[in-house]
Amino acid sequence: MISDKTKLKLKGAKKICVLTGAGISAESGIPTFRGSGGLWKNFRAEDLATPDAFRRNPSLVWEWYHWRRNICKNANPNLAHFVIAEMEKHYSSFLLVTQNVDGLHPRAGSKRLLEIHGNIFTARCLKCETIFPIEDKEYPEHLVYCPKCASLSRPHIVWFGESYDVGILEEIYSYTSNIDIVIIIGTSGQVSVPVQIALNAINRGAYSIEINPDESTISNNVDEFIKGKAGEILPSISQLLQE
Ligand code: NAD
Ligand code: ZN
Repeated sequence: MISDKTKLKLKGAKKICVLTGAGISAESGIPTFRGSGGLWKNFRAEDLATPDAFRRNPSLVWEWYHWRRNICKNANPNLAHFVIAEMEKHYSSFLLVTQNVDGLHPRAGSKRLLEIHGNIFTARCLKCETIFPIEDKEYPEHLVYCPKCASLSRPHIVWFGESYDVGILEEIYSYTSNIDIVIIIGTSGQVSVPVQIALNAINRGAYSIEINPDESTISNNVDEFIKGKAGEILPSISQLLQE
């Protein structure tokens, strides 16, 4: 299933980066945006996770986020999340970059982690920009208000069309400029920044491995595409590292 060349690379590497997307949490029961179960009340994620959608109907967007947050809260990390947390201890230099907002990586024990799209358990005030945890309670009309200034707040998430935290991106590009391996797991490659991060690492000489049951927009550029579910493939990597 995994080629001998990739096995050797995984065993010999010192500095690696793992890049994850919604697919790694699919086996935890969290729907991906583009897979089955990605629709909510007939809305596409692209029509809800945008600044425009929030301006038009903050109550609807919040209702969707409360629904999604509840799914994340009740889900548990799967084997793939745990193997990645283990890999962090194995390699002398390690960074996990995730597009996921579900909090399952930190719950599995990952520490060297950058959540580039934010975290679904936090909100941000539109006025004073305070970032605060969302409480587990019923919010009238689903709306969340700032604990400091009582203004309307929004999910602390990077939405479609919004810019990323520049400091975080600089840290990622600097780290991935001289890594041995990049592993891309469960991402469709429809969002451009994660694709750029992967391609940049590849162009700078990183050996690239992708794990996904389906091909993505990056698959043609990787050294090895491993077709399969994250929760099934990653345990064999873990076993390999222990040999
Ligand atoms: P996506 O929904 O566009 O694509 C998911 C990818 O995962 C697909 O390529 C699919 O083939 C693959 N996949 C499905 N099951 C898999 C499995 N068991 N193992 C490995 N791969 C599997 O997701 P995306 O590319 O990450 O981007 C969409 C955006 O959606 C991201 O910005 C992310 O922030 C957000 N999102 C996050 C979550 C989450 O936090 N869990 C869930 C949905 C969407
Ligand atoms: Zn405020």
